[in-house]
Amino acid sequence: MHHLRRVLLGLFSITTISMFVSSAQAADKADCISVADMNDIVASFSQFQHLKGKEFCYDGSTDSALLEAIMFMRNTQFASTMPASHDELFSGKFATSWWKYFTGRINKFNVQQNCPEGAAAYVIGFFGGHTMYVCPLMLTGSLTALDRASIYMHEARHIDGFPHVTCSHGPRKGINGACDDNIKDSGSYAVTVETYAQLGKYATDLNPAMMAYAQASAVVYANDAFEVPVNIDQTQNFVVMTADKQFHEVNIQGGGKQISDLGFASDLGRIIMRGVYYVLFPDDKNLPAKYVFTHNEGDLAQTPGSDAGEYNASSPQEKANFVAIHYAGNWGVRAYKNKLSVSCDPQAGVKSDLNISGTPVSFIYPNGYDREARMVFLMMANGTVMEVGCKSKTQPYQQATNMSFDRPFTRMYKSGNAVVGLGADGKIYQVNGQTSTPITTPFDGQIYELLAHKNFTFF
Ligand SMILES: [Zn+2]
Repeated sequence: MHHLRRVLLGLFSITTISMFVSSAQAADKADCISVADMNDIVASFSQFQHLKGKEFCYDGSTDSALLEAIMFMRNTQFASTMPASHDELFSGKFATSWWKYFTGRINKFNVQQNCPEGAAAYVIGFFGGHTMYVCPLMLTGSLTALDRASIYMHEARHIDGFPHVTCSHGPRKGINGACDDNIKDSGSYAVTVETYAQLGKYATDLNPAMMAYAQASAVVYANDAFEVPVNIDQTQNFVVMTADKQFHEVNIQGGGKQISDLGFASDLGRIIMRGVYYVLFPDDKNLPAKYVFTHNEGDLAQTPGSDAGEYNASSPQEKANFVAIHYAGNWGVRAYKNKLSVSCDPQAGVKSDLNISGTPVSFIYPNGYDREARMVFLMMANGTVMEVGCKSKTQPYQQATNMSFDRPFTRMYKSGNAVVGLGADGKIYQVNGQTSTPITTPFDGQIYELLAHKNFTFF
């Protein structure tokens, strides 16, 4: 039996990432492994015997990626006390030495060339012994040493048992090995959530962007990878970005209105939700898409998934043709100025182009951003709204809807019980069916982007 660790967020295509981005985000770490550290590693992993007694400097090779994650496990420092969360994000059950836990269960890496789409690594039940099989995805720029360390812990847990099940609902519905039953069982996906939550809350030497990324990753796995819903304490509101690149939180839940200033983005551009991550596609078409965080956390040198990898590998002219992307669980669609590219079966790697009449503006979410739904709404420049989705794994479709609004909108999200739209006039409006009411802000006319947003109590 294969125990996969799947990285399924926004699964879309099997196109390879264009480049290996060395995860030097932990920039305060040395770029080399000392002789003493290397000798320790060789004592647990004899496959690195040829490196014994030597200093090893990261070089972008497969060994380098594996070793960097090992060093991440060995070096990352945590707070001296790590209280459990009040929800189910962090129990602390796996908080003591990750390196000891890992080397107690895994003693060999075996790099594979062919793996199912979305699989990062796996172990093979009883007959696989203590070998961890590593998939090409694990070695791409989509994953950092932080992700790899989390994967190492996840796979080590499989040595204790804890096989996965097929998800019966949620963004990973129907995907074999992409769920565990209950986070309380402390299986491999629980370890994934625990390790990310620990990094996101209690790491003492990680940069803020890595911390924010780890927090979002903990939440995504908690939301997506369990049959029994995981209890997560959270509040829901909205975030806008103004033309000066600043983020502001807008909270209108319960009929009130609270607006607070947050941090700045590094570039102006379109920001798209990928689960609870934000991906920025800069207006400057010479710049790559990247993760963006709202509290001045800075950038990550990490490609935000294979779609962004494809985007980043395209020419500025091709980038200018890109309009928006809808990140769903097990399908996805990209809107270009003149067509839609739909992937109804990402594991098969098939994409279908649909011609469209008119120009798309944005995917809109008047019913909420739902990654399980097999359809999404698309706002067109003429004010009409299309529905796009998959009828089956091989059947993408588009159809007109009778949805209409009393003014032109370029974005629309539901968060909590409120629906908010961004008008073409740079102002935001509360939307109720077809009608809308202005939400007055200090920056009316300057609002450039609108997003749904969640705050997590534990973090
Ligand atoms: Zn697994």
